[in-house]
Amino acid sequence: MIRPKLPGIGRSGRTAAHGWVQLSFDAPRTSIGYDRGLRVDGIDLWLDPHVRRPVAYVSHGHSDHCRAHGHAYVTAETADFYRLRTGRSALTILHPGVPMAMGTHEVELFPAGHVLGSSQARVRDLGTGQVIVYTGDFKLRASHTLPTAPILKCDTLVMECTYGAPRYRFPPTEQVIGDLLEWVGATLSDGAVPVVCGYALGKAQEAMAILARAGHAVAIHPSVAPYAATYVKHGVDLGEYTVLPEGREWLTGAAAGAVVVCPPHLVKSLPAATPDVRVVVLTGWAVDGGAPWRRNGPRALPLSDHAGFDDLMEYVSGAAPRIVYTVHGNGGFAAHLRRQGIEAVHLGQ
Ligand SMILES: [Zn+2]
Repeated sequence: MIRPKLPGIGRSGRTAAHGWVQLSFDAPRTSIGYDRGLRVDGIDLWLDPHVRRPVAYVSHGHSDHCRAHGHAYVTAETADFYRLRTGRSALTILHPGVPMAMGTHEVELFPAGHVLGSSQARVRDLGTGQVIVYTGDFKLRASHTLPTAPILKCDTLVMECTYGAPRYRFPPTEQVIGDLLEWVGATLSDGAVPVVCGYALGKAQEAMAILARAGHAVAIHPSVAPYAATYVKHGVDLGEYTVLPEGREWLTGAAAGAVVVCPPHLVKSLPAATPDVRVVVLTGWAVDGGAPWRRNGPRALPLSDHAGFDDLMEYVSGAAPRIVYTVHGNGGFAAHLRRQGIEAVHLGQ
C-alpha cells in the first residue's frame, strides 16, 4: 500500500489546526495541500477555504463556507446565497456536469444533496489522469427539495465526516418524516402550535416541503424567508407558505392550524413566551442518546442534511479511492477506515 508523505500529520489522524500541510503520494503523483482548506497542485484555486483566499471554490451556501473571497467559483444557486451572505459578486458560475479547464486540471461539479446548490468537486489531472474528489458537505439519502448526490469514482477522496462514528446511523428518512407528521398532527389536535426548528438554509426548506405536501399550512420565521425565496426562484416546490412578522411577537402572527418553521437558535425563547407551543428540533444529533442537550431539551428528530455513518461507508466503498482524507468530525472515521485496511488521514475542521 502506498503511504502518503504527511509532514505534520501523525498516525492518530490529527493535524495542527493551522499551517500548510503538503500531502502527496508518489506513484502516480497526485499532490494536494491543506491549510484551513484544500489546494490542488497545478490549480490556483482553494477548495472551501475557511479563511479569505484570492480564488476559492465554495461548495455551498452555509455561513461557515461563505467567506468573502477575492473571486469565488460556485453553482448558480450557491451564488445567490454567497451574495446574500457576503455582499460580493466577484463570481464565476460553474454548471454541474460541465467540466472547466483550470491550469493543468479539469474541474467538474456534481450535486452533493446537502442544501440547494451544494456541490461536490471532481478535479482531474489532465496529465496523469488522476482524480481527486472533494465531497463538501453532502448526504446520499433522498430529499424532497434536492437532487440525489452521486458517488464519484476517484483516486483521492476528501470527504466531510461530521457524523463519522457508528452510533450516527440515521433511520430511514420516510420513518423520520412519519414521526414528524404524527407529532404535528397530535400537537394540532391538542390545540397547541407546532414549531419545527431547523437551520434557516436547507433544513427549514426541507421541513416546509414535507409539511406542505402533507397538506399543512406553513408559516415561517422572517429569517428563513430569503432562503426560501431562493429555493422558489430556482424552481423548488415548497408549497404555499406565509412569512411571520419581524419583532419579539413574531410567533403571534401564526394563523390557527399553521405549522411554524423557524431556526433552532429561537428554541429557548419559545416555550416561556408562549406555553401552548410545542417544539421539535430537526437534527442529526438526535440519534445520539447520550448528547447532554437531550436531557432537558426539546424533542428532537434525526432529519439531517449530512451524511451519516452508513452514507460515509457507502461512499468510500463506491468511490474505491486509494486514499481518503477526512474533514470535520473528530478523526474517528479516518481511524475506522484504517482499521479496515483503507489508507485514511483526518485533516481537521
Ligand atoms: Zn453545510
